[in-house]
Amino acid sequence: MSHEERESFRQQGILLTSFNEIYNWGRANSIWPLQFGLACCAIEMIAVAAARFDIARFGAEIFRASPRQADLMIVSGTVTKKMAPQVVRIWNQMGEPKYCIAMGACSISGGPFKQGYNVLKGVDRYIPVDVYIPGCPPRPEALLNGLMEVQKKIKAERLTGPDAPRHLRKDLPCEWP
Ligand code: SF4
Repeated sequence: MSHEERESFRQQGILLTSFNEIYNWGRANSIWPLQFGLACCAIEMIAVAAARFDIARFGAEIFRASPRQADLMIVSGTVTKKMAPQVVRIWNQMGEPKYCIAMGACSISGGPFKQGYNVLKGVDRYIPVDVYIPGCPPRPEALLNGLMEVQKKIKAERLTGPDAPRHLRKDLPCEWP
């Protein structure tokens, strides 16, 4: 059924949907971020949970302290080589489906410390990143925009085929190194 036909049904008060849409609508509006921060970007991440920016409007206010209960990792800050194994380990402990936001220049490329010997040149060398948010630090609005991009990505996923979430794909490894 075309988008126009569905829209005409909606205008008549008839709501048509599919299991795929309902499933993704629920997932996209109940993202639970992992409660951890690495450096100054984390302060901006904390700000989105407060009243002024109010991440609860997007259903993502439940920051979980356990990776078993979280489905979004926000890498908010400098990833040092000493901390990298812990970040990867926590990522591997999160259940599928899971998503990752690289928040700020440090997590994307090492930022102002990229010439240093002790900082990763991008967390995406170790875990898969879904959304990149540039800035040093990015403002809370930018993080909310990144969250909306994750929501868009979830809503576009299909339960089968190449667009299926990672946990439903048999052709992808379930864990990264
Ligand atoms: Fe701090 Fe800038 Fe690095 Fe964010 S990107 S952790 S604000 S130095």
